[in-house]
Amino acid sequence: MDIEREYVLQNYARYPLVLARGKGCYVYDTSGKRYLDFISGIGVNALGHGHPRIMKVLREQAGRIIHTSNLYYNEYQGPLAKRLVEMTGLKRTFFCNTGTEAIEGALKMIHSHGRAINPEKFEVISLENSFHGRTMGALSITGQPKYRQDFEPLVPGVKFIPPNDVAALEAAFNDRTAGIVMEMIQGEGGIHPLTHEFVMKARELADRYNALLVADETQCGVGRPGTYFAYQRSSPVILPDIVVAAKPVACGIPLGFIVANDRAAAAIKPGMHGTTFGGGPLACRVGLEFLQVLDELMPAIQRVGGYFHLSLNEFKRKHPIVKEVRGFGLMLGVELNGPGKQIVLDAMANGLLINCTHDTVLRFLPPYIVTEKEVDQAVKILGKVLGKA
Ligand SMILES: *Cc1c(COP(=O)(O)O)cnc(C)c1O
Repeated sequence: MDIEREYVLQNYARYPLVLARGKGCYVYDTSGKRYLDFISGIGVNALGHGHPRIMKVLREQAGRIIHTSNLYYNEYQGPLAKRLVEMTGLKRTFFCNTGTEAIEGALKMIHSHGRAINPEKFEVISLENSFHGRTMGALSITGQPKYRQDFEPLVPGVKFIPPNDVAALEAAFNDRTAGIVMEMIQGEGGIHPLTHEFVMKARELADRYNALLVADETQCGVGRPGTYFAYQRSSPVILPDIVVAAKPVACGIPLGFIVANDRAAAAIKPGMHGTTFGGGPLACRVGLEFLQVLDELMPAIQRVGGYFHLSLNEFKRKHPIVKEVRGFGLMLGVELNGPGKQIVLDAMANGLLINCTHDTVLRFLPPYIVTEKEVDQAVKILGKVLGKA
């Protein structure tokens, strides 16, 4: 911690905890103290720590070849792309490394798509309270002033509207609209799902004005909500033109992706986009293995997610400091009547890692392998902590 304080850019407000190893749903600090991990690296460690099937392919592939660049083919990028096309119902995949990078690629698709129709068609609609990343493009569509204010001016042509406000959505669209970007369940913003009515109207307007609808599933997607993607929860499913995701895709190895339909994919021609690391054989092989395990785990995600939601609602009845419980599957949030920072610290002292987003929302993103027993443990620790809060 001392060395970091001297040599690392002071952009993070870290907890005073050095994590040394992990096993399943638990992590251990350097003194050997055990913590139940209900944040999983902010939704990244989808299969927890040291999952045997992930370890096996990692070891095997690291000994064969790790990186080849996109100058050449590798054995795993194509099969993973095929799998993602089947899972999304879209057509073509681009691989990158992070959620932000995936959003940047989607923004380039939006701009190129609009420009091909009319040079004035570059407006992007985004939602207030959203989070899409911290590079200049991703920041320009992130609807939270605290992240943006020090870096303006950003990319022009972005309009923010309140989530689930259908009238504002209708008013925001015009012939210059090239795209709209949304999280089906806002994550950093405090676990706020979009309504079916709102997404349906966005789809209808995007079609009417020939704009691209982008679902940012970086946090809410790839199994976490109990479906492959959060947009697939509604019936009938409203298909976006572009889906982006990253966090859990390779269980801790950086891997992000864009999946696009034909209309969106046509906006990118050879030479217009690329990346050095994206889609390497190690990351893609781990991603493929993860998606196989995911199919086996999906019933458990739904069952344990439902159990967790019920437990938190029960918890709410006993603790007046809890205002609301929100979310789906293993993406849950507890809105408090006050700040959550101290509760996170107290939970940590009691062996539970969670996080607080938007000041008042306790956020739970446990690994997909979590069981009812571990949920009981987490809720018990929370009870102990809130008992004195
Ligand atoms: C985390 C997140 C991002 C940014 O992803 P990085 O991998 O940190 O670049 C973008 N969108 C959403 C919805 C996220 O939750």
